Amino acid sequence: MEGKTSKAWFDSGEFEESYHYDEPLGAFSGEQGTCFRVWAPTAQQVAIRLYQAGNDAPAIEKIFLGKGSKGTWLYSTTRNLDGWYYDYEVTVDGVTRCTPDPYAKACGVNGQRSMVIDLAGTNPEGWEEDKAPELTPEQVIYELHVKDFSWDLSGGFGGADRGKFTALCRTGMTLHNDGVHPTGLDYLKRLGVTHIQLLPIYDYGSVDETRPDSGYNWGYDPVNYNIPEGSYSSNPYRGEVRIRELKQAIAALHKHGFRVIMDVVYNHTYELESPLFKTVPWYYYRQDSSGKASNGSGCGNDIASERSMCRRYILESALYWVEEYHIDGFRFDLMGLLDDTLMNSLQKELDSRYGVGEKLVYGEPWRADKTAAREGTLLCDKGSLKRIDPKIGAFCDDTRDAVKGNVMNEGSVGFVNGGRISADTLRKCVAGWAGESGPFRTPYQTITYLSCHDDWTLWDKLVYTMDQSKNFRGSASNIQKANRLAAAINFCCQGRPFFLAGEEFGRTKGGIKNSYCSSAEVNQLDWSRAWQNRGLVDYYRGLIALRLQCPGLQDKTAQAASRILWASDIGHNCAALCLDNQHGKWETLLMVFNCGEQPQQLSLPEGKWQVLVDGDSAFQWKLHISVRESCTVMPKSALILGKFLSDQ
Ligand code: CA
Repeated sequence: MEGKTSKAWFDSGEFEESYHYDEPLGAFSGEQGTCFRVWAPTAQQVAIRLYQAGNDAPAIEKIFLGKGSKGTWLYSTTRNLDGWYYDYEVTVDGVTRCTPDPYAKACGVNGQRSMVIDLAGTNPEGWEEDKAPELTPEQVIYELHVKDFSWDLSGGFGGADRGKFTALCRTGMTLHNDGVHPTGLDYLKRLGVTHIQLLPIYDYGSVDETRPDSGYNWGYDPVNYNIPEGSYSSNPYRGEVRIRELKQAIAALHKHGFRVIMDVVYNHTYELESPLFKTVPWYYYRQDSSGKASNGSGCGNDIASERSMCRRYILESALYWVEEYHIDGFRFDLMGLLDDTLMNSLQKELDSRYGVGEKLVYGEPWRADKTAAREGTLLCDKGSLKRIDPKIGAFCDDTRDAVKGNVMNEGSVGFVNGGRISADTLRKCVAGWAGESGPFRTPYQTITYLSCHDDWTLWDKLVYTMDQSKNFRGSASNIQKANRLAAAINFCCQGRPFFLAGEEFGRTKGGIKNSYCSSAEVNQLDWSRAWQNRGLVDYYRGLIALRLQCPGLQDKTAQAASRILWASDIGHNCAALCLDNQHGKWETLLMVFNCGEQPQQLSLPEGKWQVLVDGDSAFQWKLHISVRESCTVMPKSALILGKFLSDQ
């Protein structure tokens, strides 16, 4: 075995046959004793060190592990070591590396030492009864960062909750504790979203957990894949605390009507010298032809998901989060680096365990650069979406860029901020670029969005392209109009709608494009701004509420595109689209988007039409205003009409 750590050897069928291992790995404890098993087929020697604390205190014992089958090493004892901490010393080719257990379920501060844990003891009260709300036919996904949610003082969160999992459990929070204007969970309930997608909540490396308030990061730098992040817990030193507090947060979100999606980064690790690398050097990583770490992630390394033990690792990890933490779905970071066998197997396993489509899987169908995957590997990028499980969704950059301009090119504009709208592109956006119009199989696969944590917020992009003074913190009415128009287009698309937390109140990061390690103050949800721009918030609320009444917009089938009866350019910079809305409250929907600076006259098709949305309000459908024959669409605004079922 010595020296056999080469790419060709790890890619070979011989390696897989000799060393693929399917039985449990990690630490298992109980009345009968404790057993540790780690997979390290290239190691000459493995030792375990036991500690009574997760940091500082020296090891109490060091024990050499014995060899098990298929490249595993094990140590078992009659002692119940619950609550003990441990790490491994793995010797490969004469080099000894100290590492936490990659299969650990708990750890000490900063994830440097693993912890033996009895998971049943981490369950909060009522956990056995915790149940996600019923899956709604339409899913509206809201992307939220744990710390952003409760950091701003105006949100009214108490000091102990600021930036923590526990803030997600609090109800009755109000702006500056005024008792009137809801923030936090109550605000989200009012908004009407169905799924909360949390930015990374597994243990990541870029924030020092001993000084959690002084650091900030989005968390795309995984260290322990199967353990919650410590800086979001009230005590990162005790391994059970972060587990219990995350479970409490998930239970609270479920109780208040939200499903919870977890953002997972299985495509790369914080650093190449990760627990995975230290136990089996190079096995979990792609190497280029010169032996260097492949860097398609742009983060210094790429995980080799196509290798069987790596696939096992990722699959098992994702399924563990669902089983142990009741997670309702996954957003895969840079899914374009992961292979189809992995993604299909995960969707299939979730479907068979929990019901078809019950747990969501979607991701970014791209990568930062080329990757050195094993030859013949099909990667889940934009070009592969029609070849993978049709339930695996992907973010749609085409609608995003058509509406507001390209994200890479700062000055690039789209429909709403100085570009032109065309009926042809509008039709494709509405159809979710599915079937013949694009890379998606059906609009079910299409995650439609205008902004996410990456790049400028929608507001900042609009300000940058529309306001010469670049007043990001302002609330100028022309920017608000463009924002409303953009949102109206987004919520009229048949794909699954997604938006970045705060997009609905004109969230700004002051023009900072990539705020992954900016301060919490730059990233936080500014709850006073949410109140200040409440008209915009209500516009999003109205669009969401209307959408839930329109089967034509919710259709996710391969036939969805055939509901588009016609799309037509009107004048210079205005387009209209007519959609079959059977079997809804309105027979057809007429959606007109005027991106120009002049009002547009429009002759209406025959019948009596109800105004559902205009440039000011997305709640017009509550007012029963009807029009016939013709109408006017104001500059930079949307007009959505619904035709009454029978001509009354
Ligand atoms: Ca951490």
